[in-house]
Amino acid sequence: MASSRTPLASLSDDDLAAFLADRQQAYAELQAKGLKLDLTRGKPSSAQLDLSDELLKLPTTTRDRSGTDVRNYGGLEGLPELREIFAELLAVEPAQVVVGGNSSLTLMYNVVVDFLLFGGVESPQPWSREEKVRFVCPVPGYDRHFALLEELGIEMVNVDMHEDGPDMDAVEALVRDDASVKGIWIVPTYANPSGAVVSQEIAARLASMPTAAPDFTIFWDNAYAFHHLTEDETKSADIVSLSMAAGHPNRPVVFASTSKITYAGAGVAALAASVDNIAWFLRHLGKSSIGPDKVNHRRHVEFFGSAEGLRRHMQKHREILAPKFAAVDTALREGLEGLDIAEWSHPLGGYFVNLDVLDGTASRVVQLAKDAGIALTPAGSSFPYGRDARDRNIRLAPTMPVLDDVRTAMEGVATCVAFAAAEKLITERRAGR
Ligand code: PMP
Repeated sequence: MASSRTPLASLSDDDLAAFLADRQQAYAELQAKGLKLDLTRGKPSSAQLDLSDELLKLPTTTRDRSGTDVRNYGGLEGLPELREIFAELLAVEPAQVVVGGNSSLTLMYNVVVDFLLFGGVESPQPWSREEKVRFVCPVPGYDRHFALLEELGIEMVNVDMHEDGPDMDAVEALVRDDASVKGIWIVPTYANPSGAVVSQEIAARLASMPTAAPDFTIFWDNAYAFHHLTEDETKSADIVSLSMAAGHPNRPVVFASTSKITYAGAGVAALAASVDNIAWFLRHLGKSSIGPDKVNHRRHVEFFGSAEGLRRHMQKHREILAPKFAAVDTALREGLEGLDIAEWSHPLGGYFVNLDVLDGTASRVVQLAKDAGIALTPAGSSFPYGRDARDRNIRLAPTMPVLDDVRTAMEGVATCVAFAAAEKLITERRAGR
């Protein structure tokens, strides 16, 4: 790289122009490679999916432990053996678990729709009868959480996501006096996209904070609970016990799935909550289903054997994923460190790296990358309504491509970030004169 690692903004006009010319050249070379790479979505790679191919030979029996034929209707709450495994993993009793189909997002959608149509255990009336329903949305966050709310006409209010969870002063102020604020999304472990882990203290504040809405609900989406990238296996805060202890047993609903443990398209999803919430959920679920795919439940029980078996299986994912995340960090460091134009997360688990570029350049970076054959998630995706007021946030998803492609793509992304930053600084200087 032509320039030294002086912060870009402190370069003289001439040096900045030289830096831009150098990055323009690097970008032209990048384009000439004719790449076709994709870092858009957090999907497991083929190598990860292969880890679970034994599933294709299971189950070896069509009876569950009690002798029930898993091929038949029934068992709405899920196979008892699998409920037990999830209960241990999520630190609740088996009676507090429902195991459903292949998608936790579907369970979330069902819960929100049930609140809208019927109201929850603590609701004075269905949410659809309220004048307005609002959710607190820690940002950056998971785009599909936001799309789900937008689809259902629920307003979103942003609060900042920090390294240890949402900005709790802001959350408490929002929920204290306004009964239209009915819920909050929390991805407690290795959050999408920031990698943040909600601390015990913040979980305890969420569980105990006074809320104007009696049916205020924490949507505790623990999609990455077991997806560690290091040997340091972070333990999720136990929101169910904390809420129970704080006198709000029905406040949290916990979601998890094996989408990134076995097969993303053919795993199993679980919901955990108070016994009252479970009864409420099953009452409504029972009108739309006579029972889940218990053959797949049985298959997963045989595959994991136990909660410990699932945890062990995750170590194999880690071996595939950790080098990819390291490659992202190396490329960003080599391309951008010291320039003061980007910050990125160093997640200890999960599926994403959060990249913040110079304000006002994220869309440009994504466009430049696209024109060089590197698909990134659209800028702003991690914000409600796709609106990142600072246009600086980019979510990187390095899990799906093979390691070499992650390296190549990320070197290209670093080039685009530097190119866009230099361009912006020069434009600003010219305009300022
Ligand atoms: N929650 C979060 C935070 C996610 O990142 C994802 C997948 N990207 C999901 C839920 C989707 O989970 P499922 O496959 O179980 O629907």
